[in-house]
Formats: sequence, structure tokens, C-alpha cells
Amino acid sequence: MITLRGLTKRHGDTVAVDALTLDIEEGRVTGFLGPNGAGKSTTMRMILGLDRPTAGRALIDGKPYASLRHPVREVGSLLDAKALHPGRPARSHLIAQARSNGIPVRRVDEVLETVGLATVARRRAGAFSLGMYQRLGIAGALLGDPKVLILDEPVNGLDPDGVRWVRDLVRAQAAQGRTVFLSSHLMSEMQLTADRLVVIGRGRLLADTSMAELLAASASASVRVRTAGPDDLRTLTDRLLAHDGVSAEPAPACGGERNEIVVRGRTAGEIGDLAHRLGIRLHQLHSVSASLEQAYMELTEHSVEYATRPAKV
Ligand code: ADP
Repeated sequence: MITLRGLTKRHGDTVAVDALTLDIEEGRVTGFLGPNGAGKSTTMRMILGLDRPTAGRALIDGKPYASLRHPVREVGSLLDAKALHPGRPARSHLIAQARSNGIPVRRVDEVLETVGLATVARRRAGAFSLGMYQRLGIAGALLGDPKVLILDEPVNGLDPDGVRWVRDLVRAQAAQGRTVFLSSHLMSEMQLTADRLVVIGRGRLLADTSMAELLAASASASVRVRTAGPDDLRTLTDRLLAHDGVSAEPAPACGGERNEIVVRGRTAGEIGDLAHRLGIRLHQLHSVSASLEQAYMELTEHSVEYATRPAKV
């Protein structure tokens, strides 16, 4: 488990991370999201003892990183895949890492096999593609068989096969009871990978929630409702619109179906109960969940440091 309590980092006037308090629990994949400059890397660096907090603390299983006896065996991390000596063969790089942490060399060959680099292990890392660098970085993170994994943009540069491989790997690690904390800008991928989400903007916590809760709370989550006839639809629509924060619009024509509306601001259960009280027969009641991308955009719209305008066409 990773524990953050009032974790803060200032660089002069810039508040990179602003009083983050949260727990990142074991047995789950926790996604870390936020616009560029939100403070994600700085937070990860403080957890890993690479940046000193201005205030607050970051603990791993109750201890600061600096006081861990065998850090690489307790926390595996990938921050910058390209931060290694380009002239050194991949295997030598991992062997050096293993030796300095009391890890047997046979573990190097195991992780090279796991990440799919066994056949190129004797090539210089400098000749690697970005995707291969990422695999090598993940091999380094796995080397000590740690209980906690912290991965900054691990799927950056990977092909679709590699992206799916990372997803399966981190999900398997979490299923074994490990703590997995990873960032990514690929929302559709994060939606498939993470159980929980921590979202920050301008250093501040915007959400610490399960994926399901975040998607359900999105303004773009909706319910499609079809009644038996137009009179029922009118009655139901009027009753729904009598409440603030509820919208009900005719559903876009689909397969010639009529008597159908799209409702926002009420759950399928609430609409079903209302229809029952009104004696209205429903022919369809279907929840349409928001995408993570939509939910994320709503959360972060006021926290984007480098805003863009829609392109004119
Ligand atoms: P993210 O990883 O979410 O893109 P960062 O943690 O890299 O965000 O940066 C958070 C903020 O802190 C940004 O405004 C960035 O410019 C600033 N920052 C990060 N590192 C430094 C540093 N060493 N000196 C000054 N400002 C920094």
C-alpha cells in the first residue's frame, strides 16, 4: 500500500503537488490521471524518494522509501525508460541492477523472458525502439519481484500487442495482491486496465474513486427509455423534467424506433421506479455509461495548463 498524507512540492512559486492525501491499495490497479503539468511525475518521484517533499509524506507499506532495506525488492518503478546507458547491452544493464541489489542473475533471464526481450538481450540498448526501451524498463521494475509497482506511462511507444501485454501483466500483478500505480494519457486503455482512479489537476486531488463510480457520476452517462406508446412517453417525460438537473430528449432515430427518450440525471433504477408508480409500461430501459475520456474531460476542464481551442473547419 502507498500512503500519501498532505504530500506537497513547491518549486519557487509553482505548486507542483498540493497537499495530496490518499491511499493506493494493494490488489488493485490504480490509474493516475491528470493533464500535462498536473504533478503526476513529481508525485511518483516523491514516493520513490527522488524528490524531497516540501511538506507532508509518502509512505510505502508504512515506511518512507529511503528507509526501505531492499528498495528494489519492495518497489519496482519505471519513470523514464530511456534513462539508461545506451552503449550497454540490455542484459548487462539488468545484471548490474540485480548485482547491486543482491538479486540472483537467473532472475534477469526470467524477466527478459517475461517482457519478450530474451532474443535481443545481448544487443545494445541504444539500438532499441521506444517500445523495446519500455519493455526493458518494465523488466527492471519486475526484477526484485516487488509488492509495489509504480509505472509512469508504461504503454507509451508500445504497439497494440505491447499495450495489451502491459494490461494483462499489471492486472495479473494486482490479482496476486500487489499494489499497482500507473499513469497513462491513453484513456480508452486506462478504462480497460484500472480498477480505481486518482485524478489530479494543478497539483490538487480532483478524484479518488472507483472506475465504476467515476463513469456513473459523469454528466454524459444516460439512460435510454422506451414506452409502449406516445402518451406514456409524454407523461413520463413531463414528470422527469419537473426536477432540476434532469434532461430528457427524444432519442436519435435508431432502427425506426419511436416512443424513446434519452434521460440524463436519473439512474435506470429511479426511472423504472417512477414508471411503476405512474403505471407506465416500459419496453426498454438501458443504461449507457460514459467513456472514461468524457468523464476525465469534465473533471479536468478547469485544470488544463495548456488549453487548446476547437479546430476551425
Ligand atoms: P506531470 O507529470 O503531471 O506532467 P510534473 O510533475 O512533471 O507534471 O510537473 C508539475 C509542475 O511542476 C509543472 O508545472 C512543472 O513545470 C513543475 N516542475 C516539475 N519539476 C520542476 C522543477 N524541477 N523545477 C521547476 N518546476 C518544476
